[in-house]
Amino acid sequence: MGEASMRIGVLHFSHETVTFLKNDTTLEDFIYPGSPAKGEPGSPANGEALLKFDPKSYMGGFVKMAREFAGVELVGIESPLWPKTYMGSGWVTQDAYETFVGRMIAEIKADKPFDGIYLCLHGAMAVRGVPRPEAELARRVREAVGPQAFIAATFDLHGNEDDEFLKYADMAFTVKYFPHYDGYLQGERAARTLVRAVRGDYKPAHVTAKIPIISPTVLQWTGASPWMDLVQRALVWEAREPDVYINVFFGFPFADVPDVGMTIQVLTNGNPELAANVCRDMAETTWRQRKALLTSTKIHSIPEGVALAKQAVQKGETPVVLADHSDRSGYATWLLKEIIAQDLSNTLIATVTDAAATAKLRDRGAKAGDLFDMEVGGLADESAGDPVRIQGTILNAGEGHGQFWVSIEFGRGNVLVLSTYLVQIMEPFSLKALGLDIGAFEIMAIKSRVHFRRGFHDNGFAKTILLVEPTEPFLGTVHLDKLPYENVALKDYYPYGNPVFPQ
Ligand SMILES: [Zn+2]
Repeated sequence: MGEASMRIGVLHFSHETVTFLKNDTTLEDFIYPGSPAKGEPGSPANGEALLKFDPKSYMGGFVKMAREFAGVELVGIESPLWPKTYMGSGWVTQDAYETFVGRMIAEIKADKPFDGIYLCLHGAMAVRGVPRPEAELARRVREAVGPQAFIAATFDLHGNEDDEFLKYADMAFTVKYFPHYDGYLQGERAARTLVRAVRGDYKPAHVTAKIPIISPTVLQWTGASPWMDLVQRALVWEAREPDVYINVFFGFPFADVPDVGMTIQVLTNGNPELAANVCRDMAETTWRQRKALLTSTKIHSIPEGVALAKQAVQKGETPVVLADHSDRSGYATWLLKEIIAQDLSNTLIATVTDAAATAKLRDRGAKAGDLFDMEVGGLADESAGDPVRIQGTILNAGEGHGQFWVSIEFGRGNVLVLSTYLVQIMEPFSLKALGLDIGAFEIMAIKSRVHFRRGFHDNGFAKTILLVEPTEPFLGTVHLDKLPYENVALKDYYPYGNPVFPQ
């Protein structure tokens, strides 16, 4: 390649913070070694390691598309990857945020000039003492790169954002589907639009609207109306108006931050009037559907869900997925307990998180064939319930993805998988790595809200899907009014009060 004609700095800072969890997300949680042999990157990452860390999602799409343009140089600026705790941790400490952002800004200043910056974000990161961490990052990046450079970002639709972000950044591209199938596509769009903006071919003109609707994530599956109708409406606008991009943030209610709720962003090429029109249409359409948005998915109690799973097995409607959508720590044992109480068979429970038990088993050199008799899970907080005693035989034990996994056979063909951290099983066949015969299970009890639909539902694998949550309104509950918000006034949001629309 000849002399670069365009330099783009690339940053990553993503977390979906459940601020109601007791364990903060610390600096240490963001720092871990990778295992190059398995293609697993360490964190923080820079240069090519950063650019290559997530090839099938936002980063992969961005890098692939940016490199299709001659003369574009990408500079991977040192960035933390997802923390070890993944989504199972609370407030990001100010220390962690300031350390990484401080290094990013110093590196940008030392390595100037940049024509553009790509921010690979999630949007639902919550940082102690920083009310809008993504907008604050954009503000500091803007200050460092100067007014001429263009800043583009990608987001998860669970981002909690208001109009602050696009005051400092020029462009944002959010996935439209939940599960998030289009991360790669949005990365590509960000790259192409950023390159065009730097070349003077795209002049970002945008509008942001906040919609006072707050909803639990389990309801936000875009396989059902009216969530899918919002996706469709955005796609129609994008199809009929070249260079229009629409972001519909569904929001993440388990972060106690001032910008929760739904948000629409519309981006046009130098046409603020069109942006305003499209944004008004999207916002009004969303608001009209508010009641249906909140009733799109049926949630069962755990005893009811387990009983329905049994019935589905009798009718041959297997495999059955029992998804406890509400467990935010991974330690919850409510479903496990009920599976034992109702004597289910050929059931896979994946996973129950238990850092202490898995550490003990690792230290003890646990291996296949060992007898197992331990209390597992529970106790992380009240939402996790009590530990449950499991007696059985270890099928498999070993390291993987930075944690220790143990699978235990018990009862009549049941298998429990223990993990060190919260694990959301999205694809049944990801469990094959644990030596499990996936086809042998009639029921799979997992911890997931919507992401599991990728590998269990939208591909036709499971014949029965049952979403459950404990009777008590714990922290992942659909009953948001039972959560101890301090920074959110629920009365300002539908369905909890009489919010004003438009805001
Ligand atoms: Zn998400």
